Amino acid sequence: MADYIVESKSRKDLRNLAETLRRFLKLENEPRVPIVELLDVFTQVFEDFNYEIVPDYALPSGVHAETDIRTGHITIKESVYEGACDGEGRDRMTIAHEIGHYFTLSFCGFSLQRNYSHQKVKPYNDPEWQAKCFAGEFMVPHHLTNDMSPDEIVEACGVSYDAASYQYNHRN
Ligand SMILES: [Zn+2]
Repeated sequence: MADYIVESKSRKDLRNLAETLRRFLKLENEPRVPIVELLDVFTQVFEDFNYEIVPDYALPSGVHAETDIRTGHITIKESVYEGACDGEGRDRMTIAHEIGHYFTLSFCGFSLQRNYSHQKVKPYNDPEWQAKCFAGEFMVPHHLTNDMSPDEIVEACGVSYDAASYQYNHRN
């Protein structure tokens, strides 16, 4: 059950947001996002953006990283950060996911409310869905990968095969 409900955003909205951010970063023609470097870029550009690398034992075993969605503070496991530095697709996507929380919640000010009544939340209103969707669109830019196969997307964008085929199946 989702703990929070956010303002509805569609895949198209989040694709637009990802494209706007890429243009802002002058990465619109770059298939492979330098996601680890961007953590430091965002720290410099956005006053309230901050992240922290912690030893693996500091987070539960099933958790790779997390974002406090009220403050935007990002915590990343050391092994995930190192994997992302080594170009590991899954770890790169984990970081993009946490960045997705920042841009869909803090930066854009999408309103956030506590799901007190524990109603079933539609995907478009779920901050987890939004972060996941944003991360996929940001790491696999629609306009550069439209005619690529999943294997080509893996190669060009530095994402896992799972992520590449997910984006491939959600191109339209
Ligand atoms: Zn998340």
